[in-house]
Amino acid sequence: MDKKIMFYSTNLMAAPMSFPDALLKGIAPDKGLFMPEKIPAFSHEEIMSFTGMEYAEIAFHVGNKFLGGVITGQELMAITRSAYDYPIPLEHVYGRTYVMRLDQGPTASFKDFAARMMGRLMQHYLKQGNRKLLILTATSGDTGSAIANAFYGLNNIEVAVLFPETEVTDRQRKQMTTLGKNVRIIAMNGKFDDCQALVKKAFADNSLDHLNLSSANSINIGRLIPQIVYYFYAFARLRKTEREKAVFSVPSGNFGDMMGGVLAMKMGLPAKRFIIATNENDEFPKYLQSGRYDSIVPSRNCISSAMNVGHPSNIPRLLSVYGGMMDESGKIFREADMERMRKDLWSVSISDEETRQSIRDAWKEYQLLLEPHGAVGWAGLQAYCREHPDSCSAESLCISLETAHPAKFPEEIEKLLGFDPPLPPSLEGLEDKKESFDHMENDYEIFKQYLIENYR
Ligand SMILES: *Cc1c(COP(=O)(O)O)cnc(C)c1O
Repeated sequence: MDKKIMFYSTNLMAAPMSFPDALLKGIAPDKGLFMPEKIPAFSHEEIMSFTGMEYAEIAFHVGNKFLGGVITGQELMAITRSAYDYPIPLEHVYGRTYVMRLDQGPTASFKDFAARMMGRLMQHYLKQGNRKLLILTATSGDTGSAIANAFYGLNNIEVAVLFPETEVTDRQRKQMTTLGKNVRIIAMNGKFDDCQALVKKAFADNSLDHLNLSSANSINIGRLIPQIVYYFYAFARLRKTEREKAVFSVPSGNFGDMMGGVLAMKMGLPAKRFIIATNENDEFPKYLQSGRYDSIVPSRNCISSAMNVGHPSNIPRLLSVYGGMMDESGKIFREADMERMRKDLWSVSISDEETRQSIRDAWKEYQLLLEPHGAVGWAGLQAYCREHPDSCSAESLCISLETAHPAKFPEEIEKLLGFDPPLPPSLEGLEDKKESFDHMENDYEIFKQYLIENYR
């Protein structure tokens, strides 16, 4: 049997851990992010065999590559089957260009894919060890509701979610604040980056050790692995031949989604290029071009609000794949191989104006209904194809990710297209439910006292 894969910290100052420990810790003791010591690979035959499989089976095979030796095949299969019980539409747009809709889960966001699998894995290992956890997470909109819904009602797990009061939509807020039970929601007088800073500080605070804090942000390795799966799924469903390669476009904020894609590529996914499309928070496209990284503080407010991130947490992971090293503050200690990175990735910043135009054009030209995040990805694909017409011929497979359901952004869609998109079944009935949440100032001491009093 293969030796089990260990997970190292991107800051390189903590001992590697097994998957269950890395999953339950969330962040490494040296504040780095966990990464697999070895990226496992699929054979060509394995990848071809995915074509006949259901999503849950492909998720099992991807998970098994990383978790072999720390969970039985039967247990893992039961987890992927219960996590992935909803459709994943691949909408044909033109030629061989598709939009993959990752918006059919319980919170109508792609974050359901990662959160549901991570929640089930955590419950599995907590039960085994008879342990308890407090999940502490900051959200710019969609993470919080996906996490809250994924953990809602589970035993051994409490959930506290911080969100920037003015940066989430009514519907996003209601998806979190109408749950109750083991889920506590806190509205912060600040920005997403402020929320994230408080959460990070709490994790580094030894006087809170007794609370058994764990992160469920996109920094948790348990969220990264499930985000590898849908790239393999889309390719398996859409490929025509054995040798072709696909272009993927990923609307990106904290870069967990695109890291899933990069890992998929390193595992053998036949990908020609990954397009990393950001909103006006353009620190990454600038870095890819120049090799110089400058975070954007404070982050810029765009209509694709879940992507308003001026310093993506997952960037140190990306550098680690390309031989570089960056700490959590964004300081680079070892340069990455930029040439290799530019071969795999292409990046572009899309303004709000371009995002709106993209929503209008997609609807008018193709009856393709997009919301602001997916529209950034779609506009990114169009920009890439203008510069690389050879990669976007009628025969080229191109897949753009839609990461939220358009009905989550009714005001914007109504303004641009003149109608209110119908709600998916998972979001119906929210309006009538009762909300409950706390308010907090952007102050670490207040936050800390709040945690101590509520979770003693
Ligand atoms: C979180 C989110 C993104 C960005 O994903 P990252 O993994 O943070 O890059 C894009 N779209 C939506 C709707 C999201 O909720």
